[in-house]
Amino acid sequence: MTGTGSVLADRLAQGTVLGAEGYVFELERRGYVKAGAYVPEAVVDFPDAVTELHREFLRAGADVMVALTYYAHRDKLRQVGRESELEAINRQAVRLARQVAAEGGALVAGNVCNTWVYNPHDASTAELVRAMYAEQLGWAADEGIDFVIAETNDYLGEALIGLEVSQELGLPAMVTLATTGPAETWDGYDYVEACKILADHGAAIVGLNCDRGPATMLPLIARIREQVGCAVAAQPVPYRTTDASPTMESLRAEGVNRVFPLALDPFSCTRFEMADFAVAARDLGVNYVGICCGAGPHHVRAMAEALGRTVPASKYSPSMDLHPVLGTAASRQDRAVLDAWNVTR
Ligand SMILES: [Zn+2]
Repeated sequence: MTGTGSVLADRLAQGTVLGAEGYVFELERRGYVKAGAYVPEAVVDFPDAVTELHREFLRAGADVMVALTYYAHRDKLRQVGRESELEAINRQAVRLARQVAAEGGALVAGNVCNTWVYNPHDASTAELVRAMYAEQLGWAADEGIDFVIAETNDYLGEALIGLEVSQELGLPAMVTLATTGPAETWDGYDYVEACKILADHGAAIVGLNCDRGPATMLPLIARIREQVGCAVAAQPVPYRTTDASPTMESLRAEGVNRVFPLALDPFSCTRFEMADFAVAARDLGVNYVGICCGAGPHHVRAMAEALGRTVPASKYSPSMDLHPVLGTAASRQDRAVLDAWNVTR
Protein backbone atom coordinates (compact mmCIF):
# COMPACT_ATOMS: atom_id res chain seq x y z
CA MET A 1 0.00 0.00 0.00
CA THR A 2 1.45 3.36 -0.99
CA GLY A 3 -1.05 5.45 0.88
CA THR A 4 -2.99 6.39 -2.24
CA GLY A 5 -6.53 7.27 -1.22
CA SER A 6 -5.56 7.53 2.44
CA VAL A 7 -5.93 10.52 4.75
CA LEU A 8 -2.13 10.75 4.64
CA ALA A 9 -2.21 11.06 0.85
CA ASP A 10 -4.93 13.71 1.13
CA ARG A 11 -2.86 15.71 3.62
CA LEU A 12 0.28 15.45 1.48
CA ALA A 13 -1.72 16.67 -1.50
CA GLN A 14 -2.63 19.82 0.42
CA GLY A 15 1.01 20.84 0.84
CA THR A 16 3.94 20.43 3.19
CA VAL A 17 3.17 18.31 6.24
CA LEU A 18 4.84 19.50 9.43
CA GLY A 19 6.04 16.82 11.82
CA ALA A 20 7.34 17.05 15.37
CA GLU A 21 9.13 14.33 17.26
CA GLY A 22 11.86 14.05 19.87
CA TYR A 23 9.41 13.09 22.61
CA VAL A 24 11.87 10.85 24.41
CA PHE A 25 14.61 13.52 24.56
CA GLU A 26 12.22 16.23 25.71
CA LEU A 27 10.50 14.06 28.34
CA GLU A 28 13.94 13.02 29.61
CA ARG A 29 14.81 16.69 30.09
CA ARG A 30 11.54 17.15 31.97
CA GLY A 31 12.25 14.22 34.29
CA TYR A 32 9.84 11.62 32.93
CA VAL A 33 12.15 9.35 30.92
CA LYS A 34 15.38 7.72 32.09
CA ALA A 35 18.35 8.46 29.85
CA GLY A 36 20.23 5.35 28.86
CA ALA A 37 17.27 3.03 28.51
CA TYR A 38 15.12 5.79 26.95
CA VAL A 39 12.00 3.67 27.32
CA PRO A 40 8.81 5.79 27.33
CA GLU A 41 7.45 4.50 30.63
CA ALA A 42 5.84 7.93 31.07
CA VAL A 43 3.03 6.79 28.78
CA VAL A 44 1.58 4.87 31.74
CA ASP A 45 3.43 6.47 34.67
CA PHE A 46 2.80 10.11 33.74
CA PRO A 47 0.27 10.18 30.91
CA ASP A 48 -0.47 13.85 31.58
CA ALA A 49 3.15 14.71 30.79
CA VAL A 50 2.90 12.93 27.44
CA THR A 51 -0.44 14.55 26.66
CA GLU A 52 0.97 17.96 27.51
CA LEU A 53 3.89 17.58 25.11
CA HIS A 54 1.57 16.35 22.37
CA ARG A 55 -0.57 19.42 22.97
CA GLU A 56 2.43 21.76 22.89
CA PHE A 57 3.50 20.37 19.53
CA LEU A 58 -0.08 20.54 18.25
CA ARG A 59 -0.42 24.17 19.31
CA ALA A 60 2.94 24.86 17.66
CA GLY A 61 1.58 23.59 14.36
CA ALA A 62 2.44 19.91 14.10
CA ASP A 63 0.14 18.18 11.62
CA VAL A 64 0.79 14.71 13.04
CA MET A 65 0.63 13.37 16.58
CA VAL A 66 3.07 10.50 16.79
CA ALA A 67 2.21 7.85 19.37
CA LEU A 68 5.05 7.61 21.86
CA THR A 69 5.97 4.00 21.25
CA TYR A 70 9.59 4.67 20.36
CA TYR A 71 11.56 1.90 22.15
CA ALA A 72 8.26 0.51 23.50
CA HIS A 73 8.97 -2.89 21.99
CA ARG A 74 9.17 -6.23 23.77
CA ASP A 75 12.96 -6.46 24.01
CA LYS A 76 13.39 -2.98 25.52
CA LEU A 77 10.52 -3.41 27.98
CA ARG A 78 12.00 -6.72 29.07
CA GLN A 79 15.27 -4.91 29.76
CA VAL A 80 13.55 -2.48 32.13
CA GLY A 81 11.41 -5.18 33.76
CA ARG A 82 8.09 -4.03 32.33
CA GLU A 83 7.39 -6.59 29.63
CA SER A 84 4.03 -7.39 31.21
CA GLU A 85 2.92 -3.81 30.43
CA LEU A 86 3.90 -3.96 26.77
CA GLU A 87 0.35 -3.99 25.41
CA ALA A 88 -0.92 -1.42 27.92
CA ILE A 89 1.89 1.02 27.03
CA ASN A 90 1.42 0.61 23.28
CA ARG A 91 -2.36 1.02 23.42
CA GLN A 92 -2.23 3.93 25.84
CA ALA A 93 0.35 5.75 23.68
CA VAL A 94 -2.00 5.69 20.71
CA ARG A 95 -4.95 6.81 22.83
CA LEU A 96 -3.01 9.81 24.14
CA ALA A 97 -1.95 10.80 20.63
CA ARG A 98 -5.49 10.36 19.31
CA GLN A 99 -7.02 12.38 22.09
CA VAL A 100 -4.80 15.39 21.40
CA ALA A 101 -4.93 15.02 17.61
CA ALA A 102 -8.71 15.35 17.82
CA GLU A 103 -8.27 18.76 19.45
CA GLY A 104 -6.70 20.13 16.29
CA GLY A 105 -7.49 17.90 13.35
CA ALA A 106 -4.03 16.33 13.29
CA LEU A 107 -3.25 12.92 11.85
CA VAL A 108 -2.26 10.09 14.17
CA ALA A 109 0.81 7.99 13.47
CA GLY A 110 1.78 4.70 15.03
CA ASN A 111 5.50 4.37 15.58
CA VAL A 112 8.14 1.68 15.42
CA CYS A 113 11.88 2.19 15.42
CA ASN A 114 15.32 0.63 15.41
CA THR A 115 15.24 -2.31 17.83
CA TRP A 116 18.94 -3.15 18.41
CA VAL A 117 17.84 -6.76 17.87
CA TYR A 118 18.21 -6.94 14.08
CA ASN A 119 21.36 -8.52 12.65
CA PRO A 120 21.56 -8.83 8.86
CA HIS A 121 23.72 -11.93 9.20
CA ASP A 122 21.23 -13.80 11.40
CA ALA A 123 17.84 -14.48 9.80
CA SER A 124 16.31 -15.41 13.15
CA THR A 125 16.64 -11.79 14.29
CA ALA A 126 14.52 -10.63 11.37
CA GLU A 127 11.74 -12.85 12.65
CA LEU A 128 12.13 -11.47 16.17
CA VAL A 129 11.86 -7.92 14.83
CA ARG A 130 8.88 -8.84 12.67
CA ALA A 131 7.07 -10.34 15.67
CA MET A 132 7.76 -7.24 17.79
CA TYR A 133 6.60 -4.84 15.08
CA ALA A 134 3.52 -7.00 14.39
CA GLU A 135 2.33 -6.87 17.98
CA GLN A 136 3.08 -3.16 18.38
CA LEU A 137 1.45 -2.11 15.13
CA GLY A 138 -1.41 -4.57 15.58
CA TRP A 139 -2.37 -2.83 18.83
CA ALA A 140 -1.85 0.58 17.21
CA ALA A 141 -4.08 -0.33 14.26
CA ASP A 142 -6.68 -1.62 16.68
CA GLU A 143 -6.67 1.67 18.61
CA GLY A 144 -6.86 3.62 15.35
CA ILE A 145 -3.97 5.26 13.49
CA ASP A 146 -3.83 6.95 10.11
CA PHE A 147 -0.40 5.69 9.14
CA VAL A 148 2.83 4.23 10.49
CA ILE A 149 6.13 5.99 11.01
CA ALA A 150 8.95 3.41 10.97
CA GLU A 151 11.93 5.51 11.90
CA THR A 152 15.56 5.80 12.88
CA ASN A 153 16.35 2.70 10.85
CA ASP A 154 20.05 1.93 10.82
CA TYR A 155 19.48 -1.09 8.58
CA LEU A 156 17.54 -1.14 5.33
CA GLY A 157 16.62 -4.74 6.17
CA GLU A 158 14.95 -3.70 9.42
CA ALA A 159 13.22 -0.78 7.69
CA LEU A 160 11.75 -3.15 5.12
CA ILE A 161 10.31 -5.31 7.91
CA GLY A 162 8.54 -2.26 9.35
CA LEU A 163 7.17 -1.46 5.92
CA GLU A 164 5.98 -5.02 5.30
CA VAL A 165 4.22 -5.27 8.67
CA SER A 166 2.47 -1.95 7.97
CA GLN A 167 1.37 -3.18 4.57
CA GLU A 168 0.02 -6.40 6.05
CA LEU A 169 -2.16 -4.26 8.32
CA GLY A 170 -3.29 -2.15 5.34
CA LEU A 171 -1.61 0.98 6.68
CA PRO A 172 0.45 3.48 4.66
CA ALA A 173 3.97 3.87 5.99
CA MET A 174 6.54 6.60 6.24
CA VAL A 175 9.91 4.91 6.51
CA THR A 176 12.95 6.97 7.42
CA LEU A 177 16.57 6.06 7.85
CA ALA A 178 19.06 6.97 10.53
CA THR A 179 22.28 8.31 9.04
CA THR A 180 25.06 7.72 11.52
CA GLY A 181 27.43 6.61 8.77
CA PRO A 182 28.91 8.87 6.12
CA ALA A 183 27.07 7.33 3.17
CA GLU A 184 25.56 3.93 3.90
CA THR A 185 23.11 2.07 6.11
CA TRP A 186 24.64 -0.43 8.53
CA ASP A 187 23.82 -3.20 6.07
CA GLY A 188 25.76 -1.45 3.33
CA TYR A 189 23.21 0.38 1.19
CA ASP A 190 23.89 3.90 0.01
CA TYR A 191 21.27 6.08 1.70
CA VAL A 192 19.83 7.24 -1.61
CA GLU A 193 19.68 3.70 -2.93
CA ALA A 194 18.04 2.49 0.29
CA CYS A 195 15.32 5.14 -0.06
CA LYS A 196 14.75 4.10 -3.67
CA ILE A 197 14.32 0.49 -2.56
CA LEU A 198 11.84 1.49 0.16
CA ALA A 199 9.91 3.55 -2.39
CA ASP A 200 9.90 0.64 -4.83
CA HIS A 201 8.49 -1.56 -2.07
CA GLY A 202 5.56 0.80 -1.64
CA ALA A 203 6.45 3.18 1.19
CA ALA A 204 4.20 6.25 1.07
CA ILE A 205 7.04 8.48 2.29
CA VAL A 206 10.77 7.78 2.49
CA GLY A 207 13.58 9.87 3.89
CA LEU A 208 15.74 10.57 6.90
CA ASN A 209 15.30 11.29 10.57
CA CYS A 210 17.49 11.85 13.61
CA ASP A 211 21.30 11.93 13.89
CA ARG A 212 22.01 14.77 11.46
CA GLY A 213 21.32 18.43 12.02
CA PRO A 214 19.89 20.63 9.27
CA ALA A 215 23.28 21.53 7.78
CA THR A 216 24.32 17.94 7.12
CA MET A 217 20.90 16.46 6.39
CA LEU A 218 19.89 18.92 3.67
CA PRO A 219 22.54 17.94 1.06
CA LEU A 220 21.65 14.27 1.46
CA ILE A 221 17.90 14.81 1.39
CA ALA A 222 18.32 16.89 -1.78
CA ARG A 223 19.85 13.86 -3.52
CA ILE A 224 17.10 11.61 -2.22
CA ARG A 225 14.42 14.06 -3.39
CA GLU A 226 15.96 14.05 -6.88
CA GLN A 227 15.97 10.29 -7.15
CA VAL A 228 12.75 8.95 -5.63
CA GLY A 229 9.26 9.37 -7.01
CA CYS A 230 7.24 9.20 -3.79
CA ALA A 231 6.92 11.74 -0.99
CA VAL A 232 10.07 12.53 0.99
CA ALA A 233 10.53 13.28 4.70
CA ALA A 234 13.32 15.11 6.52
CA GLN A 235 13.33 15.25 10.31
CA PRO A 236 16.76 16.40 11.50
CA VAL A 237 17.89 16.93 15.07
CA PRO A 238 18.10 20.62 16.02
CA TYR A 239 21.85 20.54 16.55
CA ARG A 240 24.65 22.34 14.73
CA THR A 241 26.30 19.44 12.99
CA THR A 242 29.13 20.13 10.54
CA ASP A 243 31.05 18.42 7.76
CA ALA A 244 33.65 17.45 10.37
CA SER A 245 30.99 16.21 12.83
CA PRO A 246 28.03 15.35 10.62
CA THR A 247 25.93 13.71 13.36
CA MET A 248 24.98 14.62 16.90
CA GLU A 249 26.78 11.49 18.05
CA SER A 250 30.04 12.73 16.52
CA LEU A 251 29.93 16.22 18.03
CA ARG A 252 32.78 16.87 20.45
CA ALA A 253 33.47 19.70 22.91
CA GLU A 254 36.62 20.56 24.76
CA GLY A 255 36.63 19.28 28.31
CA VAL A 256 33.54 17.13 27.81
CA ASN A 257 34.04 13.39 27.70
CA ARG A 258 31.04 12.79 25.46
CA VAL A 259 28.56 15.32 24.16
CA PHE A 260 25.88 12.87 22.99
CA PRO A 261 23.32 12.53 24.37
CA LEU A 262 23.35 14.53 27.60
CA ALA A 263 25.59 17.52 26.87
CA LEU A 264 24.33 18.60 23.46
CA ASP A 265 22.79 21.84 24.73
CA PRO A 266 25.58 24.20 23.54
CA PHE A 267 25.09 22.88 19.99
CA SER A 268 21.35 23.58 19.92
CA CYS A 269 19.89 25.24 16.86
CA THR A 270 17.90 28.37 17.46
CA ARG A 271 14.29 28.64 16.36
CA PHE A 272 15.50 30.81 13.47
CA GLU A 273 17.84 28.11 12.21
CA MET A 274 15.05 25.54 12.29
CA ALA A 275 12.74 27.98 10.51
CA ASP A 276 15.38 28.38 7.80
CA PHE A 277 15.64 24.61 7.56
CA ALA A 278 11.88 24.24 7.12
CA VAL A 279 11.87 26.69 4.22
CA ALA A 280 14.95 25.16 2.61
CA ALA A 281 13.50 21.66 2.84
CA ARG A 282 10.16 22.75 1.43
CA ASP A 283 11.92 24.53 -1.42
CA LEU A 284 13.79 21.32 -2.22
CA GLY A 285 10.44 19.58 -2.55
CA VAL A 286 10.49 17.76 0.77
CA ASN A 287 6.88 16.86 1.56
CA TYR A 288 7.12 16.02 5.25
CA VAL A 289 9.27 18.53 7.12
CA GLY A 290 9.90 17.84 10.77
CA ILE A 291 12.28 17.71 13.67
CA CYS A 292 13.66 14.93 15.85
CA CYS A 293 15.54 14.54 19.15
CA GLY A 294 16.16 17.87 20.84
CA ALA A 295 13.02 19.49 19.47
CA GLY A 296 11.12 22.02 21.50
CA PRO A 297 7.74 23.56 20.75
CA HIS A 298 9.45 26.88 20.00
CA HIS A 299 11.29 25.24 17.11
CA VAL A 300 8.08 23.77 15.74
CA ARG A 301 6.16 27.04 15.92
CA ALA A 302 8.97 28.90 14.15
CA MET A 303 8.99 26.22 11.43
CA ALA A 304 5.21 26.44 11.02
CA GLU A 305 5.30 30.21 10.76
CA ALA A 306 8.21 30.09 8.29
CA LEU A 307 5.99 27.84 6.17
CA GLY A 308 3.43 30.62 6.15
CA ARG A 309 1.08 29.40 8.83
CA THR A 310 -0.55 30.99 11.81
CA VAL A 311 -0.96 28.37 14.51
CA PRO A 312 -2.64 28.41 17.95
CA ALA A 313 0.64 29.20 19.71
CA SER A 314 1.19 32.12 17.33
CA LYS A 315 -0.94 34.13 19.75
CA TYR A 316 2.19 34.26 21.89
CA SER A 317 4.80 34.59 19.15
CA PRO A 318 7.41 37.25 19.82
CA SER A 319 6.54 40.92 19.58
CA MET A 320 9.91 42.39 20.22
CA ASP A 321 8.54 45.88 19.58
CA LEU A 322 7.04 45.55 23.08
CA HIS A 323 10.39 44.89 24.69
CA PRO A 324 11.37 47.59 27.18
CA VAL A 325 14.94 47.85 25.92
CA LEU A 326 14.93 46.42 22.39
CA GLY A 327 11.49 47.61 21.30
CA THR A 328 9.98 50.91 20.28
CA ALA A 329 9.42 51.79 23.93
CA ALA A 330 13.18 51.85 24.30
CA SER A 331 13.32 55.35 22.89
CA ARG A 332 11.71 56.47 26.12
CA GLN A 333 14.31 54.63 28.18
CA ASP A 334 17.71 55.63 29.30
CA ARG A 335 20.01 54.77 26.37
CA ALA A 336 22.57 53.69 28.92
CA VAL A 337 20.75 50.37 29.41
CA LEU A 338 21.08 49.40 25.77
CA ASP A 339 24.61 50.78 25.68
CA ALA A 340 25.49 48.54 28.62
CA TRP A 341 23.97 45.50 26.89
CA ASN A 342 26.04 46.20 23.81
CA VAL A 343 29.35 46.20 25.60
CA THR A 344 31.56 43.28 24.64
CA ARG A 345 34.92 42.44 25.99
ZN1 LIG B 1 15.77 11.44 17.00
